[in-house]
Amino acid sequence: MIIEVLTLFPELFPGPLSSGVTGRGLNAGLVSLRVHNLRDYTHDRHRQVDDVPYGGGPGMVLKPEPIFEAVRARTGKGPVILLSPQGELLNQGLVRELARHEDLYLICGRYEGVDERVAAHLADREISIGDYILSGGELPAMVLIDAVSRLLTGVLGSEDSPKDESFADDLVEYPHFTRPPLFEGHAVPEVLLSGHHAEIARWRQAQAVERTRRRRPDLLKNNR
Ligand code: SAM
Repeated sequence: MIIEVLTLFPELFPGPLSSGVTGRGLNAGLVSLRVHNLRDYTHDRHRQVDDVPYGGGPGMVLKPEPIFEAVRARTGKGPVILLSPQGELLNQGLVRELARHEDLYLICGRYEGVDERVAAHLADREISIGDYILSGGELPAMVLIDAVSRLLTGVLGSEDSPKDESFADDLVEYPHFTRPPLFEGHAVPEVLLSGHHAEIARWRQAQAVERTRRRRPDLLKNNR
């Protein structure tokens, strides 16, 4: 998959994406990250990307021209995504949908945000990573890239890994334990030591449902 990112701070990439699972995806060429500097799409002496908001108010707004020019210069056909706290909330269902595309184009806002004409007439969708305000779209873009990369064939060590993970089927995952079997008086559940695969699978499924009921009852409403 090709993921293009338009940002005022290209030096932030790949940043944390270069380590671990996502780093493996990048190194293996399963994810190709192309980062574009928004300033490269300006044509004035000061390479100005922002301006004061019409109507007054604090802060600066990213101008539409360089963003439109950058997006129009791309060759990919996949969705153009504006990272925005006002967008639809990123969840695993949306991540799965995005992972089916051959390429994505991510626009990172800064300052007070982006001229509304970008959202209205250029971006295919606006995506938020949660109900809080960050200083820019770069961290949200990295969150999205990380989540999407994990679902691409070959990025995770085992093909089966993403199937069990939280939200895969509107459940949070069952609890995990590793050695030692007894730690400071707390024992690992007996069934996990039994070697009985069918019983372990049943126990895990029951734990996942029970945990979801307690922690995220909203997820159960989706399919049960
Ligand atoms: N004034 C905007 C508002 O109140 O909706 C917030 C602008 S924010 C300081 C600057 C940029 O950070 C946004 O344009 C967006 O790209 C990014 N951003 C901030 N929080 C975000 C979030 N929760 N999800 C996605 N992007 C976010």
